[in-house]
Amino acid sequence: MEDCLFCTIVAGDIPCYKVYEDEKTLAFLDINPINKGHTLVIPKVHVSRISEFEDEDLVGFYRALQKVTGAVERAVRLDGLNLFVNQGKDAGQLIPHFHCHITPRLKGDGLKMEIPSLKLSEDEFVDTMVKIKMALTD
Ligand code: 5GP
Ligand code: ZN
Repeated sequence: MEDCLFCTIVAGDIPCYKVYEDEKTLAFLDINPINKGHTLVIPKVHVSRISEFEDEDLVGFYRALQKVTGAVERAVRLDGLNLFVNQGKDAGQLIPHFHCHITPRLKGDGLKMEIPSLKLSEDEFVDTMVKIKMALTD
C-alpha cells in the first residue's frame, strides 16, 4: 500500500534491522525500543486489522510470531515479555499496518502496562457476552 511505512520496509525501500523473514512475514527491531530486543512482527501483505487477514496468512503470521518470540527469549536478557497489538488510532496504532510488538521486560524496568478495570453490573456482563456471541455467528 502506498504511503505505508511498513509496506515500504517490506519492499526494501527503507532499511530495517531485519531478524526474520519468510514468504509472508517479516520481523525487525523497533527503532524506538521499549527494551533491548523490542521486535515488530508484520505480515508482508498490507492489512491494518486482524479481521482483514486471509486464513493462511494469519496462521503463517502467528507461527512466525511464536518462532521469533522464542528467538528473542533466547537472545536477550529478559524476565518476561509483553506481546501486544495496537489496533486503531484510538488504541495507539501509529502505523496502520498490522504488527505485533514483542517487548522484553526486565524485573524493575519501571514500565507501566497495567490496565485499569471497569466495574460492570451482572446485566452489563450478560448483555456484552450475548452481543459478542451473536456477532460470532454473523
Ligand atoms: P504502534 O504504535 O503503531 O503499535 O507502533 C509502531 C511502532 O513502530 C513504534 O513502536 C515505533 O517505534 C515503530 N517505528 C516507527 N517508525 C519506524 C521505522 O521507521 N522503523 C522501525 N524499525 N520501527 C519504526
Ligand atoms: Zn502497509
